[in-house]
Amino acid sequence: MSRSYSSMDKKETERVLSELVCRYKEFLRSGVSINMTRGRPSPAQLDLSDDLLNAGRDLLGVTALDGVDCRNYGELEGIPECRALFAEVFGVETKNVVIGGVSSLSLMYDYFSQCCTHGTGGCEPWLRQSEPKFIAVVPGYDRHFAIAEHFGVKMISVPMTPEGPDMDAVESLVKDPSVKGMFCVPKYSNPDGVTYSPACVERLASMKPAAKDFRVIWDEAYVLHDLYDESDELANIFEAAERHDSKDHFVAFASTSKVTFPGGGVAALAASDNNIREILSRMRVQIICNDKINQLRHAHFYRTKEDLKRQMKKHAALLRPKFGTVLSVLRTELDGSEIASYTSPRGGYFISLDVKVGSAKRVGVLCKEAGLLLTPIGATYPYGVDPTDSNIRIAPSCLSTEDLRTASELLCLCVKIAACERLLGREEAL
Ligand code: PMP
Repeated sequence: MSRSYSSMDKKETERVLSELVCRYKEFLRSGVSINMTRGRPSPAQLDLSDDLLNAGRDLLGVTALDGVDCRNYGELEGIPECRALFAEVFGVETKNVVIGGVSSLSLMYDYFSQCCTHGTGGCEPWLRQSEPKFIAVVPGYDRHFAIAEHFGVKMISVPMTPEGPDMDAVESLVKDPSVKGMFCVPKYSNPDGVTYSPACVERLASMKPAAKDFRVIWDEAYVLHDLYDESDELANIFEAAERHDSKDHFVAFASTSKVTFPGGGVAALAASDNNIREILSRMRVQIICNDKINQLRHAHFYRTKEDLKRQMKKHAALLRPKFGTVLSVLRTELDGSEIASYTSPRGGYFISLDVKVGSAKRVGVLCKEAGLLLTPIGATYPYGVDPTDSNIRIAPSCLSTEDLRTASELLCLCVKIAACERLLGREEAL
């Protein structure tokens, strides 16, 4: 438990700051070199899927369930067993699933691009309409924001709440026909770890946006990624949308990037019959078929969602101590300080830390100078600008517990130094 910084007078703050700076200088001398920028699985997590590397013709054969030779062209939608697996993950019928390549992000990019250049739902392409806009739930995933920015679609931020996006704000924004959609990571959101409540999912499904071509990028990147036996439950968006006749509003995405291999897994999307038809007509121009051998390999090892969940328990066993290490340092160093708050997620890949308003960038600089690289400060907001300069994304997965302890201690120290500097109204104590 830390002392409360808000109750310190100026003299006390000066004294605390000089102690903190002494400790910081020790870190400078010790030569830290830690990169915590991205949420990559650790080598031990990758080892969990090594069987996939050894699976050859003897084990897999070459034919899919429908008899198609996976070595040849064909099956643009993906092989039936792989589509069935993802159908179970998404909670939809197999006909509503299309398997892509190795990345769900690239499926999202392609879908967004298609809406921009060719339109959806029989409407004009987004980019031919005046000033198309997209809702960005913040803090959020920088690579989503990069897609909208890349196409020049203006983003409007809506804050995340513990239940999901602020739905009053969303419902008000969608009255504007130039608002074309939104990015959502509905389970264990990146970086907050929030799972949308059933009420939030219902409200999203019941929306009547003014735009006929409104589309939600429903990114289920962490749908299988529980850290504990007691997991969050995400309501099925397509079932809710069925009740509200809004199925065309939602296109869902997922991949095995953090189940098997990032960049070597299988990605998939799920959508309404109308959207699948549109997506396939674009894909038919784009590619003859994706890597069916990799699909066969994945479908061999993971026949059901239960198989995937079993694998994810092994990941969780490796990840839990890492999250635990970071959280125990944050608890000891920051609880009671009144200068920071942080999430304790039940899944996903991140801990989200909110520091004293106006001090996050300074924390990033102090950490960097001492040898700790964080996700660029501001990256969790559109255009890389956090309006309150307070959010920091912590990515514990890829570091050893020893490095995580060092990184968390250094991070907390920098959070306190930056807070003292703010309290004293001076920028740089060092
Ligand atoms: N969506 C979110 C929310 C992510 O955090 C990530 C990165 N792990 C991705 C998508 C990228 O997934 P993929 O590897 O399937 O492209």
